[in-house]
Amino acid sequence: MNSMLKVNEIFYSLQGEGPYTGIAAVFLRLAGCSMNCSFCDTRYAFSHGRDMTYNDILKELEQYPCRNVIITGGEPTEQNFAPLARLLKQRGWTVHMESNGAQNADVSDIDFLVVSPKKHVNKEMLAKAHAIKIVVGQDTDLEELKTYFPYASAGTAVCLQPQSNQQENIDLCVKIIKQNPFLRLSLQTHKLAHIK
Ligand code: SF4
Repeated sequence: MNSMLKVNEIFYSLQGEGPYTGIAAVFLRLAGCSMNCSFCDTRYAFSHGRDMTYNDILKELEQYPCRNVIITGGEPTEQNFAPLARLLKQRGWTVHMESNGAQNADVSDIDFLVVSPKKHVNKEMLAKAHAIKIVVGQDTDLEELKTYFPYASAGTAVCLQPQSNQQENIDLCVKIIKQNPFLRLSLQTHKLAHIK
């Protein structure tokens, strides 16, 4: 397995969405995703990336005064992220990861896994998620959405995230959550706050 990762960007900011909204974190955005969703807001990460060794990545992450890392993409499970997650844990980092959950992956060193299902999702990976984040727009299939509801009773945070923060999508999420109060809202607060 390759011990290099193709990295799109590393930056220090706040987690903008999901249950850990507001925490400071260093983001490690890996390049590439084969899903090609029409509403993807990280298309710039599909093809642009630099090859970095695990050590190069650790060195760059450790420049920042924070020990929360969010491994995101693109789609991290399309690369060999697990050994890096182990190294991060050994160095005292709290490791979060965001994945589309399309394939099952070794997440044994991930402290907080967010799965955001898109065109298809691997059920085993979904079962490992601490949070499920579903992007909701006007064309969302509400029957399919309901298939994620049982995960909430098993203790997983099931969050509805209005597509592109659009008001009509926010209104739809609020309506669904009021009808199903075990769900929660995830706004992309980094976009509202105009931060990266
Ligand atoms: S799965 Fe995520 S990163 Fe991949 S294309 Fe869809 S929205 Fe973009």
